[in-house]
Amino acid sequence: MLLFTPGPTPVLEAVRMAMAGPTLHHRTPEFEAIFKETRERLMRLFGMDECVMLASSGTGAMEACVTNLAVKKVLTINAGKFGERFTRIAEAFGLETVELKYGWDTPASVEDVTAALADDPQIDTLCIQVSESAGGLRHPVEEIAAAVKSVNPGIMVIADGITAVGVEPIDTANIDALIAGSQKALMLPPGLAMIGLSDAAVERIGEGSGYYFNLAAEIKKQRRNTTAYTAPTTLIVGLSKMLEMVEEIGYDELYRRTRARAMATRAALEAIGCGLFPKSPALSMSAVYDEEADAVRSVLKTEFGVNVAGGQDHLKGKLFRINQMGLIPVYESAWVVNAVEWAYDRLGRRTYDGLASRVFNEVYYANEKR
Ligand SMILES: *Cc1c(COP(=O)(O)O)cnc(C)c1O
Repeated sequence: MLLFTPGPTPVLEAVRMAMAGPTLHHRTPEFEAIFKETRERLMRLFGMDECVMLASSGTGAMEACVTNLAVKKVLTINAGKFGERFTRIAEAFGLETVELKYGWDTPASVEDVTAALADDPQIDTLCIQVSESAGGLRHPVEEIAAAVKSVNPGIMVIADGITAVGVEPIDTANIDALIAGSQKALMLPPGLAMIGLSDAAVERIGEGSGYYFNLAAEIKKQRRNTTAYTAPTTLIVGLSKMLEMVEEIGYDELYRRTRARAMATRAALEAIGCGLFPKSPALSMSAVYDEEADAVRSVLKTEFGVNVAGGQDHLKGKLFRINQMGLIPVYESAWVVNAVEWAYDRLGRRTYDGLASRVFNEVYYANEKR
């Protein structure tokens, strides 16, 4: 079965092998050497001033950023389930919130954000997704972050990059916290979250806040190549192996291949009549609006061995989402669009003629050459 959901993504064999070794004790020179190397690789991935790893799913890192960086009032961008989650986290910790709500197909705009900040000078933190996975859209985070900083450089910008870090280069010049999760573009099992931090964020964190997710405690320990509590040793060994493999290929090349696969998948889907859902599709996934999405997913799974994700909430049964993150062999992505075309044939919507795989290959190899 091809796992083509936009998280979790498959774990490569070399990474599984690296993780198959005996469990290391986390307070040993052996593990600390692995931690140090992994931390250095992670710093190169984020390209920021500081970073931490947390034994948690991605949501834990979202919570840690909110509780350690927000002071009183948070502006959240809700264009889907993950944006809404930032609002719920802020509320759970008694912070005041201002929420900009959008349709799940609509990216946030710079104008709306600057207007919200002008309306309410008490806002001290912005929370936004880079790629909102609920509808597969890309927010113009870099532009929004720059606008926020030009209004007030003291406002902290928290960017959830869980389906963006490792997918495309992200300009972090105006981002204070950039969140990544193990089970998406980094192709690891779930359970490890990572945060890239600016110097300004480290300063705002100060003594930190909370207990398990106190980022000051983690920064202090992790600078010494250890963690405040028991480290997820096996996942960190896997992360080190994965980042080693990516560095061998090179980040530019990883981003180029991901973009080429994304462009080819989109073009192939559109050629066979799929309606792409978001107005600004992310490179991480293709989300297709389809009234028969569940029937399509069922044919893909039972006849073609392809597992893609559905929609959530009001889009349940109306969306299918195909992953594009990670070191995916190009022939697998080509097979997936071919299988979608076959599913449309099975459902009596279009006669199969191989158009999807032809368009996929044309567009992929045209992009490859650039
Ligand atoms: C997957 C995901 C998360 C984190 O979810 P967890 O289940 O807590 O790992 C957060 N934001 C986005 C955009 C995601 O895609």
